[in-house]
Order: sequence, then structure tokens, then C-alpha cells
Amino acid sequence: MKLKRNNRYTGRHFSKEFSNETMSENASTFNAKSTIKAEDLDHRFKLNFNIGKYNSTVPLGKAQFSDTDLARERAKNIKWRAIETLDQQLESFEAQITKRGGKVIWAEDSKQALESILEICKEKNCRSVVKSKSMVTEEIHLNAFLTEHNIESVETDLGEYIQQLDGEPPYHIVTPAMHKSKEDVAKLFYEKLHTAPNLTPQQLTLVAREKLREKYPAAEIGVTGANFIIADTGSIAVTENEGNARLSAAFPKTHIVIVGIEKIIPSITDLGLFWPLLATYGTGQKLTVYNTIISGPRQPGEVDGPDSMYVILLDNGRTNILDNPVARESLYCIRCGACLNACPIYKNIGGHAYGTTYSGPIGSVITPHLSGVKDWKHLSNASSLCGNCTEVCAVKINLHELLLENRYEAADAGLTSTAEKIAWKLWKKASLSRKTMNKGNKKIKNWIVNKAFKGWTAHRAELDFSEKTFNQIWAEKNSPPAKEGKCRRHGVVVFGNRKLK
Ligand code: SF4
Repeated sequence: MKLKRNNRYTGRHFSKEFSNETMSENASTFNAKSTIKAEDLDHRFKLNFNIGKYNSTVPLGKAQFSDTDLARERAKNIKWRAIETLDQQLESFEAQITKRGGKVIWAEDSKQALESILEICKEKNCRSVVKSKSMVTEEIHLNAFLTEHNIESVETDLGEYIQQLDGEPPYHIVTPAMHKSKEDVAKLFYEKLHTAPNLTPQQLTLVAREKLREKYPAAEIGVTGANFIIADTGSIAVTENEGNARLSAAFPKTHIVIVGIEKIIPSITDLGLFWPLLATYGTGQKLTVYNTIISGPRQPGEVDGPDSMYVILLDNGRTNILDNPVARESLYCIRCGACLNACPIYKNIGGHAYGTTYSGPIGSVITPHLSGVKDWKHLSNASSLCGNCTEVCAVKINLHELLLENRYEAADAGLTSTAEKIAWKLWKKASLSRKTMNKGNKKIKNWIVNKAFKGWTAHRAELDFSEKTFNQIWAEKNSPPAKEGKCRRHGVVVFGNRKLK
């Protein structure tokens, strides 16, 4: 069995090997970038515009299901079975695709994956690669690696092509250039490709198409990801809207697939559920335009397809998640991107502020497990815990609870700063004692919270304590009503607990 069991994670808790006193560099960068983006109204407008269009089409996709909730529940159950038997499913996939001439490579980490790709490139004398959209290739930084080795790597998905031209990573799992308006893209093409300024979206697409079509016949290797690995038939399934992944897989003589091991589904018949589900939650379509099942290289008698096909099954930290009984659920993710579109944090700070390959709620859940909790635990706090992500998840992952679990595990492993520990200790002590809570007046309490704990008010409105304590208000509301009458001693009228002259 090739699945790596990581020793760093034992039982419920993150490793305690890390020092915890300083905020990680990633956390400081995240805070700085998100502060800037949250105040950038132009950015917010573009994001809201694109997410608004998504929101208006999703109900049309949902209409194809007689019971959407049941469909999500079924998909979750299928993924549960696939992940619980991951080793057997992957071995079944390997056995089947090998029979049809495919070669399977097991990569424990990105280094192994990149080395394997380089080896294939050298063997095939490769000078240029055409690539379709794949988050896993972003995860292992494939483009930069190939460039270092003087191999041209061209993104052929339009959104990815735009991002590559701009020297930026994708902004979103599904919509890589979501933060750009059509005017931004026209300007970019004008600057980089010397087209006329102010081209329309149709004209821009035709320019990209013309440039990219030249690349397919010249490329020795095509690289794609996979939306699903199918265990029983030994196939991969690729979903896309532009046909570029199909060309990348079929045109060059060699096809390399790189895919995370969690993309497994047990049977080809499961696609009947997963394809419409992915389309609906990804883009609001009933079915994505091109859905391709590839079960090996070109077979005798077939007219097209590559001479050789390699499938790299990437772990890269996924077995850390598998080893964690609570976080394991996050491996059910089909990368539809719905949780990003629903997240109030993502909608304000955008994808790049996270500084990770996978952003939004799912990125915040899995990144600490994939890339190290010390450096990425702050992402678990990038949530209002509103639960909207869980509400929209195509496979019903309890995302907001997993974010809480990450926080719990980080705190339990002692990965919080001394200041935070002291603050929570004081808060707990005060909250458990009614006497302490009742001490001090409104003015003092306001000063302590708003001035002494400045971190609290850096991005929030000041807290304003009530004039009266809870005890006082309770006593007033619940004191037994006194009977109305005249006080003999003072000669005043008594009504309830109030004296009237
Ligand atoms: S966690 Fe759920 S909603 Fe988010 S990308 Fe994955 S499947 Fe989609």
C-alpha cells in the first residue's frame, strides 16, 4: 500500500513541535492584504458582479433535481465510501488503467511529482507543454518548475491564460480571473499582446483562441488534471467548458494527468450524479459543456489520442487529512467553488489575500493540514462561522464545523500566543463569576474592552456596555409586584416596586 501515513499527526491533535509566540509571516501578510482588499470598493464591485451572475444561474441548474438535498446527501455518501476505502479504490484504478496501457505514478509530495514530470519531459525531448486548468498543478507550482527547466508551459483555459499573461495565480478554484472586468482583460491584451485597445469579450476570446491553437500541434506533452478518478473502469473524467482540456489530452503524443488522490469515485455510474452536481454548484449549468472520460492512451484501431498516458496520483499532505477522523470529511470536496461564492469573507478579501492555492472556506479547512498548521492556522479564523459555506456545499461538508475543529486543535496543541491565552483566561474567569461581571460601571468596562484590548476595535465598532448589569435588570423585571397602597410611615403611594408621590 503506497498511501503515506504521516507521523506528525497523532489522534486528534496537531503536532506540538512548533513555537507559538510570533505571528507567522503568512498570517501578517494575510492580515495586511485582506485589510487592503476589504477597503477596495472597485474590487468588491467586480467580485459581487461576477458572484451575482453565478447566483442567478444556480437555481436553473438546481431545477433539474427533483430533490437537491437528497442528491447532495447521496453524493456525500458515495464520497464517504470512496474515502473510507481509498487504498482499495486507488489500487483498482491502477489495475484497470494499466491493462489499457496507462502508467500510474504515486507521488508522496510535490517534489516527487515534479521529478516524475521532468523525467517524462526529458524522455520525450519535450520543449513545450500545453496545459488545461488544474488546481493541483498550481499546488505543485508546475509552470514555474517547467520554466526553470526551459520548457514552455502554456495555459489553454481562457481564464488561466489571462492569469498567466498577467503573471498572477488563479483567483478562484473555478473562475481563475473572477476579479477582472472585461475592460481589465482588454487592457491586459493590449499591453501584452499588442491588440487594439477596448476589444469586446468576443474579440478577446478570438485573439486567445488564435494564439492558443498554434500551441497544440507544437507541444510534445499535454498536461491535464482530473475532476474524478474512476476506480472500477480505471478512467479519469475531465469537465470543462472550452474544449481545451480535450485538445491538451488528445493532440500531443504524450498525456500527463496529475490529480489528488481524494478525487476518487467508486464507479463510472456515479458520474450520473456527480457531473450535474458539479455543473450546478460550479457554474449553475445543468451539465458542463465538455465531459470527457479517458481510460488510457490511444488503443489499436482508434484514430486519435496520445501514444502514452501517465497518471500521477498525488498525496502531498492528503493522507494527513485522511489520518484525522474529523477533518477527513474535507476530502469529499469536488472543487465546485460554491463555498467561495457564498463566503462573506471571500467576497470581501478575494482569492489572493489567502496566499494559498485553495482559498475560501475549503482552502481554510485543508491548508493547515496540507501545508502546516503553524503557518496557516490563522485561516481558520477567517470566518464569521455563519455556516453559509456548509449550506451551499455540493457534497454537504460541514465546513464551518471543520473550521472550528481546526481552531480547537491548534489551541489544544498550544499553538496560540501568550497574550491570547491570558486574554481568554481572564475572560473565562470573569464570565464564570457573577460578582466580577457586576464590578465596575459602564465607563470602566468600555475603557477596558475598547482601549486596553485595542486588537478588538482595530476592525470593529467599539463595544458599548449597558448602564445596568444583567443582575440589576433581572431584579427589576422579576421582583414580586408589591400591592398598590399607601405607605403608613411615609405617606406615599406604593405601586409595584416604585414609589409615587
Ligand atoms: S467544500 Fe463543498 S462547496 Fe466548497 S468547493 Fe468543495 S464541494 Fe464545493
